[in-house]
Amino acid sequence: MNKYLGTILNSARLTSNVFKLVVSVPELTENVTPGQFCQIRIATELSHDPLLRRPISVADYDPTRQKLTFIIRESGRGTKFLARLVPGQQIDLFGPLGTGFPVHRLVKGDRALLIAGGIGAPPLYYLARQLHANGVECATILGFRSHSESFLIDEFSQFGPVRVVTDDGTLGSCGNVCTEITAWTSEGLDWTHGFACGPLPMLQALQAQLAGDGRPVWVSLEKRMACGLGACAACTCRPANPNSTASGPRLVCKDGPVFLLGEVELGE
Ligand SMILES: Cc1cc2nc3c(=O)[nH]c(=O)nc-3n(C[C@H](O)[C@H](O)[C@H](O)COP(=O)(O)OP(=O)(O)OC[C@H]3O[C@@H](n4cnc5c(N)ncnc54)[C@H](O)[C@@H]3O)c2cc1C
Repeated sequence: MNKYLGTILNSARLTSNVFKLVVSVPELTENVTPGQFCQIRIATELSHDPLLRRPISVADYDPTRQKLTFIIRESGRGTKFLARLVPGQQIDLFGPLGTGFPVHRLVKGDRALLIAGGIGAPPLYYLARQLHANGVECATILGFRSHSESFLIDEFSQFGPVRVVTDDGTLGSCGNVCTEITAWTSEGLDWTHGFACGPLPMLQALQAQLAGDGRPVWVSLEKRMACGLGACAACTCRPANPNSTASGPRLVCKDGPVFLLGEVELGE
């Protein structure tokens, strides 16, 4: 992890409130694992307001050109600031942070199921690209509220079959990622390792659906965090089994954001 200065190469809208930032970070030579994130400074050079950086997952990384891609949903002050950046402007970031997805636990011939809900899709895109490059088969379920909020469908389709599901049925099936897992499984979907990122209720529903399944599923969690470095302990979560050997609180920023489903309690 280091502090870097990046230059915006491109900013593009993917939906009315989701945008993609491509950033050149010439000094970045570290390996970036899918699931890792950067803490992006929002305040200008002359001010410390807002004080806290914003954690954003790496949506893609090109190590030969030292280009990082972030895909961000505009919500509050920080993400609205990032949405206004234009090519040529600079951003200050800490990264790569956290423990990402265990890409190298899978080998050629393994079959990954990627399950994304809304803005959970970006880190899974970078994961899918790496798994595909390693000869792992990838099947993806993308869940969105509606057609107008969908993005990255063609991009995931480069790596294997994609099923889209929307809450209102305006694109793909009508339902959610859990109903789609059931439907696709009845049509023969077969997988060896699962990966998920999305809103907490989606992860909780997945945990209930896949409890006792036996196949490993890794989930990327979001918690409000201040430092992102493991120092402030703002983003603690409890281990699911308090009697396990690693029974102390776990930090989403450092021990995660990626955890094995069932390793920690999925709560606010
Ligand atoms: C590991 C990780 C990876 C993330 N990756 C992405 C991503 O790739 N794309 C994306 O759009 N969003 C991502 N988020 C969520 C993103 O960090 C928040 O949406 C963002 O911080 C909100 O900031 P804001 O100023 O726009 O909103 P405000 O609500 O104004 O933020 C106020 C404060 O709350 C914190 N905060 C608000 N929501 C969250 C949240 N869900 N998680 C953590 N802190 C929050 C902010 O950091 C800030 O300190 C990620 C969060 C985490 C923890």
